[in-house]
Amino acid sequence: MNVCPLPSTGDDRVLLGHGAGGRLSADLLTGHVLPALGSAADGPLEDAAPLPGDDTLVMTTDAFVVSPLFFPGGDIGILAVNGTVNDLAMRGARPLALTVALVIEEGLGLAELDAALVSLGKAAGEARVPVVAGDTKVVGRGHADRLFITTTGIGRRLPELSPSATRARPGDAVLLSGPIGAHGTAVLSVREDLGFATDITSDTRPLHRMVQALTPLGSHVHTLRDPTRGGLAAALNEIARDSRVCVRIEEPALPVPRQVAGACDLMGLDPLHVANEGCMVAFIAPDHADEALRLMRALPEGQDATRVGEVTDGPAGRVVLRTLVGAERLVDMPLGEQLPRIC
Ligand code: MG
Repeated sequence: MNVCPLPSTGDDRVLLGHGAGGRLSADLLTGHVLPALGSAADGPLEDAAPLPGDDTLVMTTDAFVVSPLFFPGGDIGILAVNGTVNDLAMRGARPLALTVALVIEEGLGLAELDAALVSLGKAAGEARVPVVAGDTKVVGRGHADRLFITTTGIGRRLPELSPSATRARPGDAVLLSGPIGAHGTAVLSVREDLGFATDITSDTRPLHRMVQALTPLGSHVHTLRDPTRGGLAAALNEIARDSRVCVRIEEPALPVPRQVAGACDLMGLDPLHVANEGCMVAFIAPDHADEALRLMRALPEGQDATRVGEVTDGPAGRVVLRTLVGAERLVDMPLGEQLPRIC
């Protein structure tokens, strides 16, 4: 197998690809961020963390730098709410409150700012999570790109659930709550330099109600993750690494909408690497997988839920895809240079 070498930065600077959720992002975290903060560089990376002293509460934070600010099916405001709500949900938590920090570039039209903020407020209302604190900063022209939003969320764990990236076990069914690839291709379709005609819309939506629907399954819900930056490939590789298991997925079972597949062909992208903002991958104990699918399909956000693979006791940390023709290939962590600023 040929593995492309990481691009050399020459002068040790951050690359755009360091922000795209793939191997470069992981290098930035494990080589720079985590050591500086005194965190174990090889520990599990979860979507949200329990609060020290009270592990019934979990916390997460995300910066949103999507470009452009408005794209088919969504905008930076709705993304900033749903992305944070979903990271809480992936730890089995109900969102309690959000904070919002805005970094605004001098010159941004107030109409655009208002549109993004109205959208943010509406998304928070729909998720029934109040924004309880915030901050606004303005920087000079050219010192930021229009608008960046950082959202922090705090949530209360549903007592029945304790999903973690470390809890996937051999035999688990790997379920996906809906089609993949829509968010990333929708954003790329309106990038100035990549413009192509499509009616793909982002899948951004809150997922906490679907997680709540899984509470009857209790501890049989092993792992939940929203495959955002880096796509399903990154999410499965992270879980395979943190649970020390092998994940096997079946290409014929992967729900890739025809238009997404076409757009990915056009841009030379693998749909497994493309960001999603409204779907969830769930690792469920095998005897409870059918019940999990039934519970997910009962909600609009999970109506297309499907089984895409299983956990095996193969080599730990590996993700293997069985292709349409029955061959097997490794699904690598995407490098990350192709899809910057997707959320
Ligand atoms: Mg996440």
